[in-house]
Amino acid sequence: MQPRDLSAHATYEAGRGIEEVARELGRDPASFVTLSSNENPHGPAPAAVEALREAAETASDYPKAAHADLTDALADRWDVSSGQIWLGNGGDGAIDYLSRAMLDPGDAVLVPKPGFAYYAMSTRFHHGTLDAYVLSKDRDFAQDPDSILGTYDGERIVYLTSPHNPSGTTMSLDAIERLADGTSDRTLVVVDEAYGEFAETDSAVALIEGRKGFDAREDVAVIRTFSKAYGLAGVRLGYAVVPDAWADAYARVNTPFAASELACRAGLAALEDAEHVEMTVESVRWAREHLATRVEAPAWPSEGNFVLFDVGDGAGVASDLQERGVIVRDCTSFGLPGCIRVTCGTESETKRAAEAINAVLDARD
Ligand code: PMP
Repeated sequence: MQPRDLSAHATYEAGRGIEEVARELGRDPASFVTLSSNENPHGPAPAAVEALREAAETASDYPKAAHADLTDALADRWDVSSGQIWLGNGGDGAIDYLSRAMLDPGDAVLVPKPGFAYYAMSTRFHHGTLDAYVLSKDRDFAQDPDSILGTYDGERIVYLTSPHNPSGTTMSLDAIERLADGTSDRTLVVVDEAYGEFAETDSAVALIEGRKGFDAREDVAVIRTFSKAYGLAGVRLGYAVVPDAWADAYARVNTPFAASELACRAGLAALEDAEHVEMTVESVRWAREHLATRVEAPAWPSEGNFVLFDVGDGAGVASDLQERGVIVRDCTSFGLPGCIRVTCGTESETKRAAEAINAVLDARD
């Protein structure tokens, strides 16, 4: 007995955790800083931690009310109807719901290369096929609608990532509109804004709703997550904002009680704690600047909570950094073997990382 043929399926390469690396090197986990998974170095909002503790008391109940409360709070936040908020198990879970809603077996999906691995995984899970548009390192990973349309061939979903992982580039709403205008009526443009809180660009929810001078449209959906700016990667909570016309579809595609009671309660508390998010965003802006100016390697301007560096040998530099207690992301699996991606840490973590990278690069000269 074997599962179906999974040989074409991509696998997810998560950033390595401190425990794993420390165990391997026989060192104390407390001596490491981990800047490989774009997590929030300040942790969750204290109110979210409290909400998790409280929610534990009623963990025997299904999360019906909490799910509805969070959905309503997010609908308020975006000024959309509750049916337009599709909660999921992380941004990844929301991506899955869009795949379920859109894809028939054999449908094609267009993804960025390099890009976030889960678009491809979700497509394969849902029996779709993959095409890729290239964001070229030589053109600074610019997300140009005309160039993407040059590759577009009627795919059912086109994924855009703004800010883009791993480069940090963004796409303006004008550019997204131009792209969506150039695709067929059967194509959904998914704008993944997992790092949206850290960016200066407006959310593509304005395109769905017809705000900021744009015409409302039914061919754009937005992905958001609590994993980054809200510091709740461990609870797995994200959502899609979909066009109003899709409101009925959620109940037909979601896993029952799509997000846990604990996740919903923590998400609600985090949403209400604007201060924690503002502090996080402020800290990320400082760290981005510090990394980009202090590290002696070419970097791309980033609007995410990370910076991509061209260090020549991503695997080698990441491994040398590990020896110095700093864990970063080798970008070989993104198809960028010369690069490392460094998450914005706290002030002391970020300073330590910048110094360690410079020391490693000096030693390798
Ligand atoms: N989109 C992008 C671009 C990401 O980098 C990530 C996580 N690294 C996600 C979506 C999904 O995040 P999560 O499932 O943790 O919410």
